[in-house]
Amino acid sequence: MSNTKKAYDVIVLGAGAAGMMCAWQAGLRGRSVLLLEVSNKIGKKILMSGGGRCNFTNLDVSAEHFICDNPHFVKSALSQYTPTDFIALVEAHEIAYHEKAHGQLFCDQSAKQIVAMLTGLCDAAGVTTKLNVEVQEVAQQDGSYRLSSQQGNVSCRSLVVACGGLSIPTLGGATGMGYHLARQFGLAVNETEASLVPFTLSGHWHEFASALSGVALPVSVSVPAKAFHENMLFTHRGLSGPAILQLSNYWYLGEPISINLLPEERLPDSLIKQKRVAPNTTLAAFLQGKLPKSLAGAILQHWWPDSGSKPLQQWTDQALTKAAAHLSDWEITPSGTEGYRTAEVTRGGVDVAGISSKTMEANAQPGLYFIGEVLDVTGHLGGYNFQWAWSSGYAAGQRV
Ligand SMILES: Cc1cc2nc3c(=O)[nH]c(=O)nc-3n(C[C@H](O)[C@H](O)[C@H](O)COP(=O)(O)OP(=O)(O)OC[C@H]3O[C@@H](n4cnc5c(N)ncnc54)[C@H](O)[C@@H]3O)c2cc1C
Repeated sequence: MSNTKKAYDVIVLGAGAAGMMCAWQAGLRGRSVLLLEVSNKIGKKILMSGGGRCNFTNLDVSAEHFICDNPHFVKSALSQYTPTDFIALVEAHEIAYHEKAHGQLFCDQSAKQIVAMLTGLCDAAGVTTKLNVEVQEVAQQDGSYRLSSQQGNVSCRSLVVACGGLSIPTLGGATGMGYHLARQFGLAVNETEASLVPFTLSGHWHEFASALSGVALPVSVSVPAKAFHENMLFTHRGLSGPAILQLSNYWYLGEPISINLLPEERLPDSLIKQKRVAPNTTLAAFLQGKLPKSLAGAILQHWWPDSGSKPLQQWTDQALTKAAAHLSDWEITPSGTEGYRTAEVTRGGVDVAGISSKTMEANAQPGLYFIGEVLDVTGHLGGYNFQWAWSSGYAAGQRV
Protein backbone atom coordinates (compact mmCIF):
# COMPACT_ATOMS: atom_id res chain seq x y z
CA MET A 1 0.00 0.00 0.00
CA SER A 2 2.23 2.73 -1.29
CA ASN A 3 1.81 6.20 0.23
CA THR A 4 0.18 4.53 3.20
CA LYS A 5 1.70 4.51 6.62
CA LYS A 6 2.23 1.12 8.16
CA ALA A 7 0.43 1.15 11.51
CA TYR A 8 -3.07 2.40 12.28
CA ASP A 9 -5.27 2.37 15.32
CA VAL A 10 -8.10 1.04 13.20
CA ILE A 11 -8.43 -0.66 9.82
CA VAL A 12 -11.92 -1.06 8.42
CA LEU A 13 -12.28 -3.71 5.73
CA GLY A 14 -15.06 -2.71 3.32
CA ALA A 15 -16.15 0.82 2.36
CA GLY A 16 -19.88 0.17 2.32
CA ALA A 17 -22.56 1.62 4.56
CA ALA A 18 -21.38 0.03 7.81
CA GLY A 19 -17.66 0.49 7.12
CA MET A 20 -17.97 4.18 6.30
CA MET A 21 -20.09 4.89 9.38
CA CYS A 22 -17.59 3.10 11.60
CA ALA A 23 -14.54 4.74 9.99
CA TRP A 24 -16.10 8.19 10.39
CA GLN A 25 -16.94 7.62 14.04
CA ALA A 26 -13.52 6.21 14.86
CA GLY A 27 -11.89 9.16 13.06
CA LEU A 28 -14.03 11.59 15.06
CA ARG A 29 -12.65 10.03 18.23
CA GLY A 30 -9.13 10.83 17.09
CA ARG A 31 -8.18 7.35 15.96
CA SER A 32 -5.96 6.93 12.93
CA VAL A 33 -8.18 5.02 10.50
CA LEU A 34 -7.52 3.21 7.22
CA LEU A 35 -10.60 2.26 5.20
CA LEU A 36 -9.81 -0.47 2.67
CA GLU A 37 -12.09 -1.31 -0.25
CA VAL A 38 -11.54 -4.22 -2.61
CA SER A 39 -13.53 -2.77 -5.52
CA ASN A 40 -12.93 0.35 -7.58
CA LYS A 41 -15.60 2.49 -5.86
CA ILE A 42 -16.96 3.09 -2.38
CA GLY A 43 -20.60 2.61 -1.40
CA LYS A 44 -21.65 0.74 -4.55
CA LYS A 45 -24.69 -0.83 -2.89
CA ILE A 46 -25.81 2.49 -1.49
CA LEU A 47 -25.66 3.89 -5.03
CA MET A 48 -27.86 1.14 -6.48
CA SER A 49 -30.22 0.95 -3.51
CA GLY A 50 -33.84 2.01 -3.51
CA GLY A 51 -33.87 2.32 -7.29
CA GLY A 52 -31.02 4.89 -7.07
CA ARG A 53 -32.74 6.88 -4.31
CA CYS A 54 -31.57 4.84 -1.28
CA ASN A 55 -34.19 3.86 1.25
CA PHE A 56 -31.77 4.91 3.98
CA THR A 57 -33.87 4.14 7.06
CA ASN A 58 -37.38 3.60 8.35
CA LEU A 59 -39.40 5.66 10.82
CA ASP A 60 -40.46 2.52 12.66
CA VAL A 61 -37.45 0.35 13.55
CA SER A 62 -37.50 -2.32 16.23
CA ALA A 63 -35.98 -5.74 16.85
CA GLU A 64 -39.01 -7.40 15.20
CA HIS A 65 -37.84 -6.09 11.83
CA PHE A 66 -34.72 -8.25 11.93
CA ILE A 67 -34.05 -11.95 11.62
CA CYS A 68 -31.33 -13.11 13.94
CA ASP A 69 -30.83 -16.25 16.05
CA ASN A 70 -30.79 -14.01 19.10
CA PRO A 71 -33.78 -11.64 18.72
CA HIS A 72 -32.32 -9.30 21.38
CA PHE A 73 -28.93 -8.90 19.71
CA VAL A 74 -29.81 -5.89 17.58
CA LYS A 75 -31.37 -3.86 20.40
CA SER A 76 -28.27 -2.27 21.90
CA ALA A 77 -26.80 -0.99 18.61
CA LEU A 78 -30.20 0.20 17.38
CA SER A 79 -30.63 2.22 20.56
CA GLN A 80 -27.12 3.70 20.37
CA TYR A 81 -27.75 5.07 16.87
CA THR A 82 -31.39 5.41 15.90
CA PRO A 83 -33.24 6.34 12.69
CA THR A 84 -33.69 9.80 14.25
CA ASP A 85 -29.91 10.16 14.45
CA PHE A 86 -29.43 9.27 10.79
CA ILE A 87 -32.32 11.51 9.73
CA ALA A 88 -30.70 14.39 11.66
CA LEU A 89 -27.46 13.73 9.76
CA VAL A 90 -29.26 13.73 6.41
CA GLU A 91 -31.06 16.96 7.31
CA ALA A 92 -27.83 18.62 8.49
CA HIS A 93 -26.43 17.90 5.01
CA GLU A 94 -29.53 19.34 3.38
CA ILE A 95 -30.39 16.11 1.60
CA ALA A 96 -34.08 16.29 0.75
CA TYR A 97 -36.04 13.12 1.46
CA HIS A 98 -39.57 11.79 1.59
CA GLU A 99 -41.55 8.96 3.14
CA LYS A 100 -42.76 6.55 0.49
CA ALA A 101 -44.86 4.00 2.36
CA HIS A 102 -44.68 2.10 5.64
CA GLY A 103 -42.24 4.66 7.12
CA GLN A 104 -39.63 4.08 4.39
CA LEU A 105 -37.44 7.16 3.84
CA PHE A 106 -35.88 7.81 0.41
CA CYS A 107 -33.71 10.62 -0.99
CA ASP A 108 -35.72 12.97 -3.21
CA GLN A 109 -32.84 13.17 -5.66
CA SER A 110 -30.15 10.53 -5.54
CA ALA A 111 -28.38 7.92 -3.43
CA LYS A 112 -25.18 9.62 -4.56
CA GLN A 113 -25.92 12.28 -1.94
CA ILE A 114 -25.66 9.70 0.85
CA VAL A 115 -22.32 8.43 -0.45
CA ALA A 116 -21.05 11.99 -0.88
CA MET A 117 -22.11 12.83 2.68
CA LEU A 118 -20.34 9.80 4.16
CA THR A 119 -17.24 10.36 2.03
CA GLY A 120 -17.08 13.98 3.16
CA LEU A 121 -17.51 12.99 6.80
CA CYS A 122 -14.74 10.36 6.58
CA ASP A 123 -12.40 12.82 4.86
CA ALA A 124 -13.09 15.51 7.44
CA ALA A 125 -12.42 13.03 10.25
CA GLY A 126 -9.02 12.23 8.75
CA VAL A 127 -9.86 8.72 7.49
CA THR A 128 -7.47 7.41 4.82
CA THR A 129 -9.39 5.52 2.13
CA LYS A 130 -7.79 3.11 -0.35
CA LEU A 131 -9.62 1.46 -3.25
CA ASN A 132 -8.73 -1.66 -5.25
CA VAL A 133 -6.97 -3.29 -2.31
CA GLU A 134 -7.28 -7.04 -2.07
CA VAL A 135 -6.16 -8.24 1.32
CA GLN A 136 -4.62 -11.67 0.99
CA GLU A 137 -3.87 -12.54 4.54
CA VAL A 138 -4.59 -11.36 8.04
CA ALA A 139 -2.41 -12.48 10.91
CA GLN A 140 -2.43 -11.60 14.57
CA GLN A 141 0.83 -10.69 16.22
CA ASP A 142 1.63 -9.07 19.57
CA GLY A 143 -1.89 -7.73 20.10
CA SER A 144 -2.22 -6.25 16.64
CA TYR A 145 -3.54 -7.40 13.27
CA ARG A 146 -1.27 -7.46 10.25
CA LEU A 147 -2.84 -7.32 6.78
CA SER A 148 -0.90 -8.19 3.67
CA SER A 149 -1.82 -7.40 0.10
CA GLN A 150 0.00 -6.89 -3.16
CA GLN A 151 0.29 -3.21 -2.25
CA GLY A 152 2.19 -3.99 0.96
CA ASN A 153 1.57 -4.67 4.63
CA VAL A 154 -0.30 -2.63 7.22
CA SER A 155 -1.18 -3.29 10.83
CA CYS A 156 -3.74 -2.08 13.38
CA ARG A 157 -4.88 -2.55 16.96
CA SER A 158 -8.54 -2.84 15.92
CA LEU A 159 -9.68 -4.60 12.78
CA VAL A 160 -13.28 -4.01 11.72
CA VAL A 161 -14.73 -6.47 9.23
CA ALA A 162 -17.42 -4.71 7.18
CA CYS A 163 -17.24 -6.83 4.02
CA GLY A 164 -21.01 -7.22 3.56
CA GLY A 165 -22.62 -10.33 2.07
CA LEU A 166 -22.64 -12.27 -1.17
CA SER A 167 -25.38 -10.59 -3.17
CA ILE A 168 -24.85 -8.91 -6.58
CA PRO A 169 -21.46 -10.50 -7.32
CA THR A 170 -21.08 -8.34 -10.43
CA LEU A 171 -20.28 -5.38 -8.16
CA GLY A 172 -16.97 -7.05 -7.30
CA GLY A 173 -17.45 -6.98 -3.54
CA ALA A 174 -18.94 -10.41 -2.86
CA THR A 175 -15.61 -11.79 -1.68
CA GLY A 176 -16.81 -13.80 1.29
CA MET A 177 -13.73 -12.45 3.08
CA GLY A 178 -15.74 -11.57 6.18
CA TYR A 179 -16.83 -15.16 6.65
CA HIS A 180 -13.32 -16.41 5.98
CA LEU A 181 -11.87 -14.11 8.65
CA ALA A 182 -14.56 -15.09 11.13
CA ARG A 183 -13.69 -18.76 10.71
CA GLN A 184 -9.97 -18.05 10.83
CA PHE A 185 -10.40 -16.45 14.25
CA GLY A 186 -12.64 -19.18 15.61
CA LEU A 187 -16.08 -17.67 15.11
CA ALA A 188 -18.99 -19.71 13.79
CA VAL A 189 -20.59 -18.73 10.49
CA ASN A 190 -24.22 -19.71 9.98
CA GLU A 191 -25.34 -20.97 6.59
CA THR A 192 -25.67 -18.15 4.07
CA GLU A 193 -28.48 -17.80 1.52
CA ALA A 194 -29.77 -15.25 -0.94
CA SER A 195 -32.61 -13.27 0.64
CA LEU A 196 -34.93 -10.38 -0.14
CA VAL A 197 -35.04 -12.17 -3.46
CA PRO A 198 -37.70 -13.22 -6.03
CA PHE A 199 -38.95 -16.81 -6.10
CA THR A 200 -38.64 -19.05 -9.13
CA LEU A 201 -41.37 -21.52 -10.11
CA SER A 202 -41.22 -24.68 -12.17
CA GLY A 203 -43.63 -26.78 -14.21
CA HIS A 204 -47.12 -25.48 -14.87
CA TRP A 205 -46.84 -22.71 -12.24
CA HIS A 206 -43.82 -21.37 -14.11
CA GLU A 207 -45.89 -21.19 -17.30
CA PHE A 208 -48.77 -19.66 -15.35
CA ALA A 209 -46.58 -16.89 -13.86
CA SER A 210 -44.67 -16.30 -17.06
CA ALA A 211 -47.87 -15.69 -19.03
CA LEU A 212 -48.86 -13.08 -16.44
CA SER A 213 -45.42 -11.43 -16.32
CA GLY A 214 -45.78 -7.77 -15.29
CA VAL A 215 -49.12 -8.19 -13.50
CA ALA A 216 -49.06 -6.90 -9.92
CA LEU A 217 -51.66 -6.91 -7.16
CA PRO A 218 -51.90 -6.48 -3.39
CA VAL A 219 -51.86 -9.85 -1.65
CA SER A 220 -51.18 -11.41 1.68
CA VAL A 221 -48.42 -14.05 1.55
CA SER A 222 -47.33 -16.31 4.35
CA VAL A 223 -45.23 -19.17 5.61
CA PRO A 224 -46.10 -20.59 9.03
CA ALA A 225 -43.65 -18.19 10.75
CA LYS A 226 -44.70 -14.94 9.09
CA ALA A 227 -47.20 -13.12 6.85
CA PHE A 228 -46.83 -9.96 4.76
CA HIS A 229 -49.52 -7.84 3.15
CA GLU A 230 -47.98 -5.98 0.20
CA ASN A 231 -47.82 -6.07 -3.59
CA MET A 232 -46.88 -9.22 -5.50
CA LEU A 233 -45.60 -9.24 -9.09
CA PHE A 234 -45.70 -12.11 -11.58
CA THR A 235 -42.43 -12.45 -13.52
CA HIS A 236 -41.04 -14.55 -16.37
CA ARG A 237 -39.34 -16.72 -13.76
CA GLY A 238 -41.92 -16.78 -10.98
CA LEU A 239 -42.99 -14.34 -8.27
CA SER A 240 -41.54 -11.07 -7.07
CA GLY A 241 -42.64 -7.72 -5.62
CA PRO A 242 -42.27 -6.47 -2.04
CA ALA A 243 -44.56 -9.15 -0.54
CA ILE A 244 -42.44 -11.93 -2.00
CA LEU A 245 -39.09 -10.32 -1.18
CA GLN A 246 -40.21 -9.88 2.43
CA LEU A 247 -41.36 -13.50 2.62
CA SER A 248 -38.08 -14.79 1.18
CA ASN A 249 -36.37 -13.75 4.44
CA TYR A 250 -38.46 -16.39 6.21
CA TRP A 251 -38.68 -19.08 3.51
CA TYR A 252 -36.62 -22.28 3.24
CA LEU A 253 -36.21 -24.46 0.15
CA GLY A 254 -38.96 -27.06 -0.19
CA GLU A 255 -41.51 -25.14 1.91
CA PRO A 256 -44.87 -24.19 0.42
CA ILE A 257 -46.06 -20.60 0.66
CA SER A 258 -49.66 -19.50 0.92
CA ILE A 259 -51.01 -16.61 -1.15
CA ASN A 260 -54.26 -14.83 -0.39
CA LEU A 261 -55.19 -13.17 -3.68
CA LEU A 262 -58.09 -11.29 -2.13
CA PRO A 263 -56.84 -10.17 1.30
CA GLU A 264 -59.47 -7.42 1.58
CA GLU A 265 -62.34 -9.89 1.10
CA ARG A 266 -63.78 -11.93 3.93
CA LEU A 267 -63.75 -15.26 2.10
CA PRO A 268 -65.73 -17.48 1.86
CA ASP A 269 -68.41 -15.25 3.46
CA SER A 270 -68.33 -12.53 0.80
CA LEU A 271 -68.71 -15.09 -2.00
CA ILE A 272 -71.64 -16.78 -0.27
CA LYS A 273 -73.19 -13.37 0.42
CA GLN A 274 -72.78 -12.49 -3.25
CA LYS A 275 -74.74 -15.63 -4.13
CA ARG A 276 -77.61 -14.44 -1.87
CA VAL A 277 -77.74 -10.82 -3.11
CA ALA A 278 -76.94 -11.42 -6.79
CA PRO A 279 -77.65 -15.09 -7.57
CA ASN A 280 -77.12 -14.66 -11.30
CA THR A 281 -73.56 -13.35 -10.90
CA THR A 282 -70.93 -15.79 -12.11
CA LEU A 283 -67.66 -16.60 -10.39
CA ALA A 284 -65.97 -15.13 -13.48
CA ALA A 285 -67.74 -11.80 -12.99
CA PHE A 286 -66.97 -11.82 -9.27
CA LEU A 287 -63.25 -12.37 -9.94
CA GLN A 288 -63.05 -9.98 -12.87
CA GLY A 289 -64.39 -7.24 -10.61
CA LYS A 290 -61.74 -7.82 -7.99
CA LEU A 291 -58.55 -8.99 -9.73
CA PRO A 292 -56.52 -7.80 -12.73
CA LYS A 293 -58.40 -9.12 -15.77
CA SER A 294 -55.60 -11.33 -17.08
CA LEU A 295 -55.09 -12.92 -13.67
CA ALA A 296 -58.82 -13.53 -13.23
CA GLY A 297 -58.85 -15.19 -16.66
CA ALA A 298 -55.85 -17.39 -15.88
CA ILE A 299 -57.28 -18.44 -12.53
CA LEU A 300 -60.65 -19.31 -14.04
CA GLN A 301 -58.94 -21.29 -16.76
CA HIS A 302 -56.82 -23.15 -14.22
CA TRP A 303 -59.36 -24.01 -11.51
CA TRP A 304 -62.79 -23.54 -13.04
CA PRO A 305 -62.54 -23.97 -16.84
CA ASP A 306 -66.16 -25.13 -17.01
CA SER A 307 -67.88 -23.76 -13.91
CA GLY A 308 -66.61 -20.17 -13.95
CA SER A 309 -69.49 -18.98 -16.10
CA LYS A 310 -72.13 -20.79 -14.02
CA PRO A 311 -74.41 -18.46 -11.94
CA LEU A 312 -73.52 -18.52 -8.25
CA GLN A 313 -77.03 -19.79 -7.42
CA GLN A 314 -76.03 -23.10 -9.03
CA TRP A 315 -73.11 -23.49 -6.58
CA THR A 316 -73.63 -25.05 -3.17
CA ASP A 317 -72.24 -23.08 -0.24
CA GLN A 318 -69.82 -25.93 0.27
CA ALA A 319 -68.55 -25.66 -3.31
CA LEU A 320 -68.14 -21.90 -2.92
CA THR A 321 -66.21 -22.40 0.32
CA LYS A 322 -63.90 -24.77 -1.52
CA ALA A 323 -63.49 -22.30 -4.37
CA ALA A 324 -62.74 -19.50 -1.92
CA ALA A 325 -59.95 -21.57 -0.38
CA HIS A 326 -58.12 -21.59 -3.74
CA LEU A 327 -58.25 -17.81 -3.74
CA SER A 328 -57.42 -17.10 -0.10
CA ASP A 329 -55.00 -19.96 0.49
CA TRP A 330 -53.31 -20.65 -2.82
CA GLU A 331 -50.55 -23.02 -1.81
CA ILE A 332 -47.56 -23.10 -4.07
CA THR A 333 -44.01 -24.36 -3.56
CA PRO A 334 -41.31 -22.20 -5.14
CA SER A 335 -38.62 -24.22 -6.89
CA GLY A 336 -36.02 -21.82 -5.52
CA THR A 337 -34.99 -18.19 -5.60
CA GLU A 338 -33.23 -16.08 -8.22
CA GLY A 339 -30.15 -16.38 -6.01
CA TYR A 340 -27.41 -13.89 -5.20
CA ARG A 341 -27.55 -12.44 -8.72
CA THR A 342 -30.61 -10.38 -7.80
CA ALA A 343 -30.86 -10.75 -4.01
CA GLU A 344 -30.76 -7.57 -1.95
CA VAL A 345 -29.17 -9.26 1.05
CA THR A 346 -27.53 -12.39 2.41
CA ARG A 347 -29.39 -14.22 5.14
CA GLY A 348 -27.08 -15.92 7.66
CA GLY A 349 -23.46 -15.01 8.29
CA VAL A 350 -21.24 -14.53 11.31
CA ASP A 351 -22.98 -16.06 14.32
CA VAL A 352 -23.84 -13.28 16.77
CA ALA A 353 -23.34 -15.66 19.70
CA GLY A 354 -19.63 -14.83 19.46
CA ILE A 355 -20.10 -11.04 19.21
CA SER A 356 -20.75 -8.34 21.82
CA SER A 357 -24.11 -6.74 21.04
CA LYS A 358 -22.89 -3.48 22.59
CA THR A 359 -19.59 -3.05 20.73
CA MET A 360 -19.64 -5.63 17.88
CA GLU A 361 -16.29 -6.95 19.12
CA ALA A 362 -15.69 -10.69 18.96
CA ASN A 363 -15.98 -11.98 22.53
CA ALA A 364 -13.00 -14.29 22.29
CA GLN A 365 -10.88 -12.19 19.94
CA PRO A 366 -10.01 -8.75 21.34
CA GLY A 367 -9.67 -6.05 18.71
CA LEU A 368 -11.66 -7.89 16.02
CA TYR A 369 -15.07 -6.40 15.13
CA PHE A 370 -17.84 -7.44 12.71
CA ILE A 371 -20.48 -4.96 11.54
CA GLY A 372 -23.29 -4.71 9.00
CA GLU A 373 -24.54 -7.44 6.72
CA VAL A 374 -21.61 -9.82 7.29
CA LEU A 375 -23.25 -10.63 10.62
CA ASP A 376 -26.16 -13.05 10.85
CA VAL A 377 -28.62 -10.15 11.05
CA THR A 378 -31.09 -9.66 8.19
CA GLY A 379 -33.55 -6.80 8.05
CA HIS A 380 -36.95 -6.63 6.43
CA LEU A 381 -37.30 -4.71 3.19
CA GLY A 382 -37.81 -1.01 3.87
CA GLY A 383 -34.59 0.68 5.03
CA TYR A 384 -33.91 -1.74 7.88
CA ASN A 385 -30.70 -3.16 6.43
CA PHE A 386 -29.13 0.26 6.10
CA GLN A 387 -30.26 1.18 9.61
CA TRP A 388 -28.51 -1.95 10.85
CA ALA A 389 -25.36 -0.93 8.93
CA TRP A 390 -25.46 2.60 10.44
CA SER A 391 -26.20 1.37 13.98
CA SER A 392 -23.71 -1.49 14.11
CA GLY A 393 -21.05 0.68 12.43
CA TYR A 394 -21.65 3.43 14.97
CA ALA A 395 -21.50 1.00 17.92
CA ALA A 396 -18.12 -0.37 16.82
CA GLY A 397 -16.93 3.14 16.00
CA GLN A 398 -17.32 4.14 19.68
CA ARG A 399 -15.11 1.32 20.86
CA VAL A 400 -12.31 0.70 18.35
C1 LIG B 1 -30.10 -3.77 -5.33
C2 LIG B 1 -30.08 -3.52 -3.85
C3 LIG B 1 -30.92 -2.57 -3.30
C4 LIG B 1 -30.93 -2.36 -1.93
N1 LIG B 1 -31.74 -1.40 -1.43
C5 LIG B 1 -31.75 -1.18 -0.09
C6 LIG B 1 -32.52 -0.11 0.45
O1 LIG B 1 -33.09 0.71 -0.28
N2 LIG B 1 -32.55 0.00 1.80
C7 LIG B 1 -31.85 -0.83 2.65
O2 LIG B 1 -31.92 -0.68 3.87
N3 LIG B 1 -31.08 -1.81 2.15
C8 LIG B 1 -31.00 -1.98 0.81
N4 LIG B 1 -30.19 -2.97 0.31
C9 LIG B 1 -29.36 -3.75 1.24
C10 LIG B 1 -28.14 -2.90 1.66
O3 LIG B 1 -27.53 -2.40 0.50
C11 LIG B 1 -27.13 -3.73 2.45
O4 LIG B 1 -27.76 -4.42 3.49
C12 LIG B 1 -26.06 -2.81 3.02
O5 LIG B 1 -25.38 -2.19 1.96
C13 LIG B 1 -25.09 -3.58 3.90
O6 LIG B 1 -24.07 -2.70 4.29
P1 LIG B 1 -22.61 -3.27 4.59
O7 LIG B 1 -21.74 -2.07 4.77
O8 LIG B 1 -22.66 -4.28 5.66
O9 LIG B 1 -22.20 -4.04 3.27
P2 LIG B 1 -21.96 -3.44 1.79
O10 LIG B 1 -22.70 -2.19 1.60
O11 LIG B 1 -22.19 -4.57 0.89
O12 LIG B 1 -20.43 -3.06 1.81
C14 LIG B 1 -19.41 -4.01 1.92
C15 LIG B 1 -18.19 -3.44 1.25
O13 LIG B 1 -17.08 -4.29 1.50
C16 LIG B 1 -16.35 -4.46 0.31
N5 LIG B 1 -15.56 -5.68 0.44
C17 LIG B 1 -15.97 -6.97 0.35
N6 LIG B 1 -14.94 -7.79 0.56
C18 LIG B 1 -13.87 -7.03 0.80
C19 LIG B 1 -12.51 -7.30 1.08
N7 LIG B 1 -12.07 -8.56 1.13
N8 LIG B 1 -11.67 -6.27 1.27
C20 LIG B 1 -12.09 -4.97 1.20
N9 LIG B 1 -13.39 -4.66 0.93
C21 LIG B 1 -14.25 -5.67 0.75
C22 LIG B 1 -17.41 -4.47 -0.76
O14 LIG B 1 -16.89 -4.20 -2.03
C23 LIG B 1 -18.35 -3.38 -0.26
O15 LIG B 1 -17.96 -2.11 -0.71
C24 LIG B 1 -30.11 -3.16 -1.07
C25 LIG B 1 -29.27 -4.10 -1.63
C26 LIG B 1 -29.22 -4.28 -3.00
C27 LIG B 1 -28.28 -5.30 -3.57
